[in-house]
Amino acid sequence: MVLKLYNTYSNQKEEFIPIQKGKVGFYMCGPTVYDYIHLGNARAFIVFDVLRRLLRYLGYEVTYVQNITDIDDRIIERALKEGVDTSEITTKFTRAFLEDLDALGIERADIHPKATEHVSEIIDLIQKLIDKGMAYQVNGDVFYDVSKFKNYGKLSGKKIDELISGARVSVDEKKRNPLDFVLWKSQKPGEPAWESPWGPGRPGWHIECSAMSMKYLGESFDIHAGGIDLIFPHHENEIAQSEGITNKQFVKYWLHNGFLEIEGSKMAKSLGNYRTVKQVLRDYPGVVIRMFFLQKHYRSPIDFTLEGMQAADSACNRLKIFMQNLAGKLSGIKAPHESFDAKSMRQDELNFDKMLTQRRDDFLAAMLDDLNTPAALSHLFDLVRESNKLVNKDRLTDGEINLLVSLQKMFEEFNELLGVVDAHEDKLDSELLKDVVQILVDIRKELREKKEWALADKIRDALQVKGILLEDKSGQTTWRLQ
Ligand code: AMP
Ligand code: ZN
Repeated sequence: MVLKLYNTYSNQKEEFIPIQKGKVGFYMCGPTVYDYIHLGNARAFIVFDVLRRLLRYLGYEVTYVQNITDIDDRIIERALKEGVDTSEITTKFTRAFLEDLDALGIERADIHPKATEHVSEIIDLIQKLIDKGMAYQVNGDVFYDVSKFKNYGKLSGKKIDELISGARVSVDEKKRNPLDFVLWKSQKPGEPAWESPWGPGRPGWHIECSAMSMKYLGESFDIHAGGIDLIFPHHENEIAQSEGITNKQFVKYWLHNGFLEIEGSKMAKSLGNYRTVKQVLRDYPGVVIRMFFLQKHYRSPIDFTLEGMQAADSACNRLKIFMQNLAGKLSGIKAPHESFDAKSMRQDELNFDKMLTQRRDDFLAAMLDDLNTPAALSHLFDLVRESNKLVNKDRLTDGEINLLVSLQKMFEEFNELLGVVDAHEDKLDSELLKDVVQILVDIRKELREKKEWALADKIRDALQVKGILLEDKSGQTTWRLQ
């Protein structure tokens, strides 16, 4: 089975073959830290977190770099408004961003480079572009000369003329061509600035990502990702800058996620239709937010609705209860079962084994097909449905115990990729739950011994309402989640 990814550069699904065997360099455009991240940003971070997990699962050594844009007009604006230093704003929102990643079960990147800590690398790149005649300076500002890069427009699939007439490009008489973009901005009064050969100023946004990605991943690397809004101009400009300097292919696979929308419009700070991750986390845990996004293909748009979140919540609960029941069933049982002889499997056990293999193949095939997480999830739910009977069976044969152990391993492996069941919370829950239920079962036993049937039944019924089923058999009481 091969991994296929949709490459925006070629407009088609391609087999993933890394530049260097066994290794993957992966850059993801990170947040501008002027405010809390919103749920739309979370989509981008979650889907590419899943891709990173998948690549690692496939045996690649992945270097995952996600920048922090900590110098930008919006940061300066906010700092001025609040009467504080820009670093106060960026420190606060970088910390908040990392907290949100943790709460969403998104693994931190191997490197989270900050733009302000890479100004000398940025200045070097700009100087190279000037030396090659691809950039020009006007009164302390430096611009990229788009007419000098013959492939400009290749990523977004547009011709330069179309871009000029169609794009929202800022009018600036200092530019030679309306599509030329800023590499270095001269300092305005009250703005933070760094010394440069062109006078004090600060870097433009696009050059930051070229500098940080090439510093940590080399001049050519495998994957560069972000939301579709970044295709033009951000990623188009990154290509022009990096390839303009190196004359080498900058990135092999360009991946872009679709938007999270609200009533048909992109969720965005500028439109005011956003919910921060922190707000949503008050109502739903991170696993539910992941499930909400992973139930749709990463390139399709998703509409944010309450019903969608509730459906994701119940989907997560189904998986969680299944995992808990399976763990409860296998607790105290040694596995693999020592006396088990594979040759003595019964027909129904063989069938179950075959079903497990089929589900594994289906799940992985979906994941490898351009990260088709909705299909992968539906195979996972099939697996749950087809396994429930065996998980809830009273007396298990050795063969069945071994099958449930395989099932548990497989389930955990899939969850490692998707992160839709909180294994940690799960453990806490089940340990606490077990103890509390056992206390109630013991009290009920005493009540029954004293023939206080009404109160004993009240305990049983109250637990049943909460989905905890007590079963009395030959003087013993066992319990399970419904
Ligand atoms: P920003 O801080 O605006 O540069 O966004 C950080 C990441 O979130 C980028 O990869 C954006 O493309 C992505 N993004 C922003 N808004 C949305 C949205 N509504 N849906 C999906 N991705 C988004
Ligand atoms: Zn970027």
